[in-house]
Amino acid sequence: MKIIDKAIKYLEVKLDGYEPKDFPCYISTGINNEDESIDYCFECAEKRKTELQKTSKEEIYVGEEINPDWSDTTLLCDSCGERLKYCLSPEGKLSELEQFLSNDFDLNSKEVCYCLMAVFDDYKDEDIEIQKGLIKLAKLMREVIKNNHGLLDNDFFLDWDKAIKRINL
Ligand SMILES: [Zn+2]
Repeated sequence: MKIIDKAIKYLEVKLDGYEPKDFPCYISTGINNEDESIDYCFECAEKRKTELQKTSKEEIYVGEEINPDWSDTTLLCDSCGERLKYCLSPEGKLSELEQFLSNDFDLNSKEVCYCLMAVFDDYKDEDIEIQKGLIKLAKLMREVIKNNHGLLDNDFFLDWDKAIKRINL
């Protein structure tokens, strides 16, 4: 099993039961087909729509980005701050990779695991530079698991395979 696949397996187990809120929603006002290009969760988009309807005679509707793999950044709702579903563009993957490779991260956080998973998503289709970076990231995750035995289960530091076995329990 390649180290990237191990990292993905690890994240899948950590993310069991976790779902970010919604795909990002935007508001379309119908005025010159202008969209309010803001990322909202569905609830906040509906609230905003109601607010706008008080002062506008134009038709206002809420649209959902069902295929948001254009995203260059991770996405949070602009109103309530909750995590939204997203897929990263290649540029987004590179910049997220850099972030993870140069900063500490907490694998106990499901939010962090979700963001890591977005970086590994469909890695086989990515170019060699991204794949090289992902191998580094997977190795770094292994180090984090080894070193964080205070934060994570005490057995995690023994080795990667054991760690995966343990979290499968
Ligand atoms: Zn929201």
